[in-house]
Amino acid sequence: MSARIIRNVLLFVAAAAAPFVIYFVRAMPHDVRGPEYTAMEVSDTMQTTDGPKYSETGHDITPLSQEQIAELAQDLTAEEAHIMLRKGTEAAFCGTLLDNKKEGTYVCRLCALPLFSSDSKFISGTGWPSFYKPVDSAHIGMHRDRSHGMERVEIVCARCDGHLGHVFDDGPKPTGLRYCLNSASLQFHDADAELPQASRPIETETAYFAGGCFWGIEDRFQNLSGVVSAVSGYQGGQVDDPTYREVCYEDTGHAEAVRVLYDPTQITYDELLAAFFRFHDPTQLNRQGPDVGTQYRSAIFCVDEKQLEAAKQFIEQQSKRDRFRGKKIVTQVTIAPTFYPAEEYHQNYYAKNGGSCPIPMYK
Ligand SMILES: [Zn+2]
Repeated sequence: MSARIIRNVLLFVAAAAAPFVIYFVRAMPHDVRGPEYTAMEVSDTMQTTDGPKYSETGHDITPLSQEQIAELAQDLTAEEAHIMLRKGTEAAFCGTLLDNKKEGTYVCRLCALPLFSSDSKFISGTGWPSFYKPVDSAHIGMHRDRSHGMERVEIVCARCDGHLGHVFDDGPKPTGLRYCLNSASLQFHDADAELPQASRPIETETAYFAGGCFWGIEDRFQNLSGVVSAVSGYQGGQVDDPTYREVCYEDTGHAEAVRVLYDPTQITYDELLAAFFRFHDPTQLNRQGPDVGTQYRSAIFCVDEKQLEAAKQFIEQQSKRDRFRGKKIVTQVTIAPTFYPAEEYHQNYYAKNGGSCPIPMYK
């Protein structure tokens, strides 16, 4: 055979095989595809969050304005103001909470954000109340402190920026850290007592959405103002506690879904529905962009009849838009079956690993 014939045969084989190769690559689960798929950036289409900030424990940790801080500071004593606003330090062995052994929560004296629990308090012998970990690491801010000829790490309240003390790396296990506090920066609430409103997590509502790869949907909801948290998981199938492998390769009936906890004073369910339709294409049956399979179906899982009615009405309105002219919206709308959170490595995948799903943001 001449070289030309061999070349033509090879070209024919390559052309015939290409659609199959593309199909199998698309049908592969994300974690075996390789980095080229996950590295595709569409950051110019991503939402940014300028709204409230929430911690993992569900507290509003949006930084307070100078005006709000000044108003709260009117309630401080002269010594508390000196310590919290002007970075003072109380005398060792003189603080009121040094020997407190009661069970309960230590909140910020200025803004009442919960900072430490009695569970992590220990006797350090330094003369100041000491803890080995905060109730939520996002509640504590840190600044380098080179004052008094020392190199230290100052700790402040993440919400009001009030001075708390310092953190050192000579603490006990399991963290090895010693958070050294001024009693004057804290207020103690007994475990039996009800915490004040400013110390409680915000009241959230829940919504569930499935629309292709949960890495991408989770990331986009997480970045939506008013969303407290978004968790990737599996929902809508027949298998209890499914694994990612089972959902990808076996007939579990589960969809990759995202549980969204939101602050209803900041964002409504209808606004979440509208965002969901921007985040995916609800006219694609059992696929989304490069992802093919029933686990990538479009679905809204509703927590009650009210959400169910709202979702159905929303879809009816959407079907009249130019965007969906000549196309059928195939999104399933049902009462939410059990949601199974996905394996830890799927959570906050893009935030931890960078990149984003190669799917566009729809108008
Ligand atoms: Zn505070």
